[in-house]
Amino acid sequence: MNAEDIKKIAKDLGADLVGIASAETLNAHPPDPKWPQTPDRISPYTKSAVVIVCRIPVAAFRCKTNIPVQYIDMLVLRRMDRIAYRISEALEAAGHPSLVTAAQETDWNYKKASYGRLSTRHLGIEAGLGTFGLEVNILTPEFGPRLYLTGILTEAELEPDEIMTEQVCIGESCSRCLYSCPSDAVLHFGIDKRGCAVEAQEFGYMTATAMFDKFVDADAEKKKEILRSRDLFGFWQGLLRVVGSFGDCPRCLAVCPVGNDYHAYLADVQKVIPEKTEAKVAKAKGFKQARKDGDDVSGLNEWNRRWVGPEGYQGMVARQMQAFKAEQKRRAEEAENPEKEDA
Ligand code: SF4
Ligand code: SF4
Repeated sequence: MNAEDIKKIAKDLGADLVGIASAETLNAHPPDPKWPQTPDRISPYTKSAVVIVCRIPVAAFRCKTNIPVQYIDMLVLRRMDRIAYRISEALEAAGHPSLVTAAQETDWNYKKASYGRLSTRHLGIEAGLGTFGLEVNILTPEFGPRLYLTGILTEAELEPDEIMTEQVCIGESCSRCLYSCPSDAVLHFGIDKRGCAVEAQEFGYMTATAMFDKFVDADAEKKKEILRSRDLFGFWQGLLRVVGSFGDCPRCLAVCPVGNDYHAYLADVQKVIPEKTEAKVAKAKGFKQARKDGDDVSGLNEWNRRWVGPEGYQGMVARQMQAFKAEQKRRAEEAENPEKEDA
């Protein structure tokens, strides 16, 4: 079984994108060498990582509230895990031991934040599927950041894809993710994880432990109040459907102008960003100046530039939009003049 075979299987099973990274490269380039998230730490026999992407349906980002996207996220993750498992089965059937890694896990022995045994964003970038956005989500040219991804570690030696060197993210002059962030957690090709968690993990682990802490110390009247609170209901719902535990805030995903899904369905409804403030505009300007001046920005240092796209932004989104508009025009003309096309 070669790389093309496995990519066909993944696409036939419903993966929207698929790429391959070599374990050797992943082991040599851990996202943070102090806390190496590498295949080697999971299995020393891994030769390749097959990385699949499932996009989040765009309708979720056209809704009046965040609730639909929270539920759809969970459906996408379940579907993605099933596809990944079927791929690992196909690889094993062909004689290559393979396993699916958990896409949303935290290794508590690592940093005290959501930090898994592997970073799926980095897997995707190493598999040639995209590069970092300003908010350090992976941005794919096809769907921007509106996706989930996971990896299948396999002992099969598969031809790896080349990492992208062109920056997919428009960068500091765009900064729409920064403007939209309700907790102002977007840094310069970095993220304040705790700040983000306030919105994105409303009923996540830290919130749960804080509530239990409060409950233990509360008097009888306060305990009754906590038991009737929206928070407790939120945790119950989180246990039931995972909704609320993570992926709660879709704002930076919704406003990112990368991807034809954005051009087709989001450009109109997401054009105006209500959360934009003068302070955020000043912050973005500071980022732009810092990059121009070659300041010491940790997200852009020699180690991290690999995942941002060392060539910098070369106009990928503008080219993509022009091609998209040309295609729209062609289709409109075809619809108006079907005979001409048939002739
Ligand atoms: S998920 Fe929400 S809170 Fe987190 S960085 Fe994006 S916009 Fe900000
Ligand atoms: S919104 Fe703009 S700056 Fe933010 S990730 Fe997308 S392209 Fe980059």
